[in-house]
Amino acid sequence: MGPVHIFDLIVAGGGPAGTSAAIMAAQSGAQVLLLEAGRFPRQKVCGEFVSAESLALLAALLRADQKDLLDTAIPITTGRFFFDQRAVATQIIPPAASIARLDLDAALWGSAEAAGVDARLQVRVKNISGSSPFTVSTSDGEFESRAVIDASGRWSNLNAATTPDGQQKEIWLGLKAHFLDPCAEASVDLYFFDAGYCGIQPVSLVADRKESAGYGRINACAMVRANVARSLPEVFARHPALSKRSCDWKLLGQPVSTSPLVFRDPRPLGNGILCVGDAAAFVDPFIGDGISLALRSGTLAAQCLVPFFQGACSLPDATQAYEEAYRKRFGPVFSRSSKVRRLLSLRQPLRAPFVFLLRKAPAITRYVIRKTR
Ligand SMILES: Cc1cc2nc3c(=O)[nH]c(=O)nc-3n(C[C@H](O)[C@H](O)[C@H](O)COP(=O)(O)OP(=O)(O)OC[C@H]3O[C@@H](n4cnc5c(N)ncnc54)[C@H](O)[C@@H]3O)c2cc1C
Repeated sequence: MGPVHIFDLIVAGGGPAGTSAAIMAAQSGAQVLLLEAGRFPRQKVCGEFVSAESLALLAALLRADQKDLLDTAIPITTGRFFFDQRAVATQIIPPAASIARLDLDAALWGSAEAAGVDARLQVRVKNISGSSPFTVSTSDGEFESRAVIDASGRWSNLNAATTPDGQQKEIWLGLKAHFLDPCAEASVDLYFFDAGYCGIQPVSLVADRKESAGYGRINACAMVRANVARSLPEVFARHPALSKRSCDWKLLGQPVSTSPLVFRDPRPLGNGILCVGDAAAFVDPFIGDGISLALRSGTLAAQCLVPFFQGACSLPDATQAYEEAYRKRFGPVFSRSSKVRRLLSLRQPLRAPFVFLLRKAPAITRYVIRKTR
């Protein structure tokens, strides 16, 4: 038997965080194995709002022939917040993009393959042991690597045992489906009610564009307490304006759901393994920044590992550099966004003063949005 092949890097999970880490590491010359338990394309519970902060990075990561995903994405220029009978509108400057996860995740996966990553679908990572070399046990055998990145998402077998945020007592559910709404506008509309909120925005699929049949496709995505609603129609019924707006919508495809939505303190490092995207911390979906944080933390982790791959520093030096940079760049976003969402989801009349302030002073609304980036 010949010597065991040792990869520079094994990445567990092929969502935006894992693919961006793999692409960035491969582009710097590392030998990368990317393992994904599922397959693409697939639907994913997500508002599909990609904030402007990460669009240039996304363009740099995508394969040249996939960049039209960005060019043809629907720009989201306005945000509207609906509370009870009141609405607050704000401009989104620079505009965000609406990109279906069905297309985005498949495009990033294809880009990883094109960058030279050994990318394997339907391989589940079961266990990670040792330290440089790490032994990664999977549903398709064992692999070894000098470094490992956990990009397995919010609630995987690799990180579910970590301690959730102690304040979280309720079980939250994520629900999503596409509908046909002939009156869709280029706005992200957030409907708040006592036990959660629902976001609505127009979205188009690459397949729709080819058949020019995509006009009017919208994404409805909700975060709701499980004891209050378990389906999107039940969510729509929680808000009078949303209930009225949705009565003529036609369901497109199958709804998807996920639970529990566990918020926990950021944990970018564990046992010498770099955690990226939702595996490091789950940001409140209200701010629509999870994809951006996944792309940015994934590439940051890969960048911190490059000097180690090139023999310029040790693995502990590289992981420490990542942890420090992660906490500095992303730490404030997590605490601010959770506070804002808690305020907006308060029961009436407790949230009334906050809503009044947002309505009277658009500059404050823009400030709140900026501070949660
Ligand atoms: C209700 C809701 C609405 C949201 N709306 C938005 C929004 O509008 N905009 C936004 O930016 N973000 C939004 N988010 C957040 C966003 O979806 C996530 O932050 C983003 O998907 C994180 O990317 P990731 O790569 O870290 O994880 P994921 O996208 O979850 O990818 C993880 C991958 O790892 C794979 N995996 C899991 N376990 C293993 C294993 N053991 N071995 C191999 N592979 C494994 C999974 O199959 C999955 O493909 C929302 C989230 C929710 C719940």
